[in-house]
Amino acid sequence: MAMATFFISFLFASLLGSAKAQFIEYNTTQRIVPGKVNVHLVPHSHDDVGWLKTVDQYYVGANNSIRGACVQNVLDSVISSLFEDKNRKFIYVEMAFFQRWWRQQSKAMKLKVKELVNSGQLEFINGGMCMHDEATPHYIDLIDQTTLGHKFIKDEFGQIPRVGWQIDPFGHSAVQAYLLGAELGFDSLFFARIDYQDRAKRLKDKTLEVVWRGSKSLGSSSQIFTGIFPRHYDPPDGFTFEINDVSPPIQDDILLFDYNVQERVNDFVAAALAQANVTRTNHIMWTMGTDFRYQYANSWFRQMDKFIHYVNKDGRVNALYSTPSVYTDAKYAADEKWPLKIDDFFPYADHPNAYWTGYFTSRPGLKGYVRAMSGYYLAARQLEYLKGRNNSGPNTDALADALAIAQHHDAVSGTERQHVAADYALRISLGYEEAEKLVSASLSYLTQSGSSPGQGKITSKFQQCPLLNISYCPPSEDILSDGQSLVVVVYNPLGWKREEVVRIPVSTKRITVLDSSGKEIEAQILPLSNATLSLRKYYVKAYLGRSLGETPKYWLAFSVSVPSIGFSTYIVSTSKQIGPSSAVSSVYTSRGGTGNTIEIGQGSLKLIYSAKEGKLTRYVNSRSLVTAAAEQSYSYYTGNDGTDKDPQASGAYVFRPNGTFPIKSEIQAPFTVVQGPLLDEVHQTFNPWVSQITRVYTGKEHAEVEFTIGPIPVDDGIGKEVITQITTSMKTNKTFYTDSNGRDFIKRIRDFRTDWELQVNQPVAGNYYPVNLAIYIQDSSTELSVLVDRSVAGTSLVDGQIELMLHRIIYIVKISKVVLPFFYRRLLHDDSRGVGEVLNETVCVLEKCEGLTIQGKYYLRIDHLGEGAKWRRTAGQEIYSPLLLAFAEQDGNEWINSHVSTFSGFDASYALPENIAVITLQELEDGKVLLRLAHLFETGEDKDYSLLTTVELKKLFPNKKISKVIEMSLSANQERAEMEKKRLVWKVEGSSEESKVVRGGPVDPEELLVELAPMEIRTFLVNFDYLHIFGS
Ligand SMILES: [Zn+2]
Repeated sequence: MAMATFFISFLFASLLGSAKAQFIEYNTTQRIVPGKVNVHLVPHSHDDVGWLKTVDQYYVGANNSIRGACVQNVLDSVISSLFEDKNRKFIYVEMAFFQRWWRQQSKAMKLKVKELVNSGQLEFINGGMCMHDEATPHYIDLIDQTTLGHKFIKDEFGQIPRVGWQIDPFGHSAVQAYLLGAELGFDSLFFARIDYQDRAKRLKDKTLEVVWRGSKSLGSSSQIFTGIFPRHYDPPDGFTFEINDVSPPIQDDILLFDYNVQERVNDFVAAALAQANVTRTNHIMWTMGTDFRYQYANSWFRQMDKFIHYVNKDGRVNALYSTPSVYTDAKYAADEKWPLKIDDFFPYADHPNAYWTGYFTSRPGLKGYVRAMSGYYLAARQLEYLKGRNNSGPNTDALADALAIAQHHDAVSGTERQHVAADYALRISLGYEEAEKLVSASLSYLTQSGSSPGQGKITSKFQQCPLLNISYCPPSEDILSDGQSLVVVVYNPLGWKREEVVRIPVSTKRITVLDSSGKEIEAQILPLSNATLSLRKYYVKAYLGRSLGETPKYWLAFSVSVPSIGFSTYIVSTSKQIGPSSAVSSVYTSRGGTGNTIEIGQGSLKLIYSAKEGKLTRYVNSRSLVTAAAEQSYSYYTGNDGTDKDPQASGAYVFRPNGTFPIKSEIQAPFTVVQGPLLDEVHQTFNPWVSQITRVYTGKEHAEVEFTIGPIPVDDGIGKEVITQITTSMKTNKTFYTDSNGRDFIKRIRDFRTDWELQVNQPVAGNYYPVNLAIYIQDSSTELSVLVDRSVAGTSLVDGQIELMLHRIIYIVKISKVVLPFFYRRLLHDDSRGVGEVLNETVCVLEKCEGLTIQGKYYLRIDHLGEGAKWRRTAGQEIYSPLLLAFAEQDGNEWINSHVSTFSGFDASYALPENIAVITLQELEDGKVLLRLAHLFETGEDKDYSLLTTVELKKLFPNKKISKVIEMSLSANQERAEMEKKRLVWKVEGSSEESKVVRGGPVDPEELLVELAPMEIRTFLVNFDYLHIFGS
């Protein structure tokens, strides 16, 4: 063997004559060359902030049996590769990972890395804590998570990211383009995933690069250059170079076998020219990396060094190290006109039967939790500001961090493995615990601020009830049963005054409720439904690890009135009088067969039910005179298991239904009617795992539906995706409207796409869209709106009907343990998009597990045409920011006299108009206040509210002297004026006619009046002459 090797080496060396292997200095200095096809090599690693492993497992490289991925390796090796050659570049995207790495570096290392950043070798792009999902998060969460990442980059490196890099999310939202793009000051946005039919057309038309105007209201003032990759975010075939990748490396040592320089250069040129053929201008981008690559960075950089060296020697095309910023500037310099894109890129399909619309609903429990905590975080930051921030805690920082990570495209999207979903939820709950302490401390402080000197030492301890939704609230149960009075402080995080009905569980009917002035107010006692009680029993046990003894018997409901950014106090006591002083609801059960109708609602809105059929039949508003036939029902789709011709199954990402089945009671189910002065309820049980309560409040004109779904039975081995349908006779002409991340509404037409002629393969899944705020339909006289409490999938498959998917479980055929691994995967009904685990959420008590039950709400209302927006926008904001309840025990009889019982953080005479919301009011570490104000309406959406509106800043900060107000970019990392100065102005093909875009004018430093135009969000840093004088 040794002989033979020697002989061949000898022969090879002889063939090459006198050639000698020697050190080759690769020339990597190349920059853009005009007139040639420039191949921008962009080295990157796509590092999911949790997916198959948790964020920390990915970072440290733990749990590698699931997947060999260690982000610490990526950053260590990339940084040392960059030190080796100053022409090499790298982009980094996910600040959750970079922060973890950064805080463990030495001072010397930090200095060297800062040099890499300053020289542009290492560039932060996107720059949020994670690469967020675009379908299922709320826009306020997107702003917050981006602000957090951008702040880190600004504080540590003084840098401002200028490129959006959303390469992996499964479809792309209008809000991403204009709000989390242009309004951040980004010059461009890049991504990979669009519908396969859309991509085919764009490849043909050379329209993969566009100017995207995501907002109808803000138009060209917030447009962004957008590049869609021709295939995916990995390199062209044959150019991936992680140590285990199979692409042939360049072999340029003439003493070794398989010398292949010319062959590889030819491959490179061919791939470049192919891409140049579908791309405008002579600049193309190669995304040199993919998921968790560069763990051994040198294996990539070594090859790219060689390619740049030899390809440029060859000279047919020009290859260079680049970044998306360099690429963007090259595109801009080409001075082209680009095709215009409006609306969004939903839904996304990568194959005819693979619509990624299941994840709009996947993991509805996590989605609900993220949304609830998002609203809580907003309120907690306000209370942190009102008390004064304590940098050493308790504060909202941990909750901020947990919520930021939860916006990742495999987090709130519901497409992660079970243990990872649990990790996100754990982080949020730990953040909540700390924020809860802060909220209690702040309310104690604010309620005591006005106390007379002698009573200043009273410290009231507030408790909160995060499980109030399932009627678990220890203070309301314990304090009242001890014969003490319960103090309920109701905090309103919105800038306008609110009147609502709140509810707490109690054990007695004999209750009195007093308001802040000591006046007895109207209250109502309602029975707890069986569904609520059994949910409470199981889930409280899962939560506490033990059973509870006593269960409360009733809900106590009472009306509250709360000032803007402030609170009111209510005292709840057991009544000493004979007979209850709260109205006890009348309760009756209707059985079928009477033929009567039942009318629900004591105010303007009446819902008419058929007693015979046990269902809703009509909707009547006696004030607005809207009346409509309306029905509501539940059904489920069975998930396709992928055993037909196409192996595509329904899964965490993909929705591929295989049939639909109505959910009907087998026998005519009775329904229970509860009536009283504040609200009426209808309790319905459709089957053992679907029930609901419909509520009509006397003072409101919408219906609230609280559904309880689960555990979804799977003993038949079939996954079920549960939907509700609201059906009217409206003639809606295939058209419906859904929101973009809770912000702008987009018109949807069934079986239609604006950008290409749709070939319909999945008539159900292909018409599903994400719903975060509302879905509505309209005809020539009325509109039906449905608001949601979390991200869900929604559609209108039949004219006059709205459909929401509320819960889904993708179950398994029972498998024997000897099944081959290959089949195992398929039988799991995984949708083969990488998660490799069946979506089957369970909740366990001790050893026993059962399928997850979801309790949630949606809200519906029918208005005259053109009048629905008012309710959608204001009620939508109220649902996002529910009233926050805190409880304390009354010491003696003196709470009201010894405490501040009503409070507003604003000037007492001031409230924001109902088209404006404070979406951030936060004290920063340096004592400045970050304020974001959002106009809630689009241009033309409402005749009264879609107007330029003025906010008086001085009234928002009574008792404080504003010394300076600086308008900032959306993520608050640069002054708005600077951002606008730098903004690239892109040209659009065709007539660029648009009606004049309205924006609020500059803020006069004396007057301090802020104008907001429709859909505008304005961000300010507010400086004060002095801080915190509340109550001092
Ligand atoms: Zn990803």
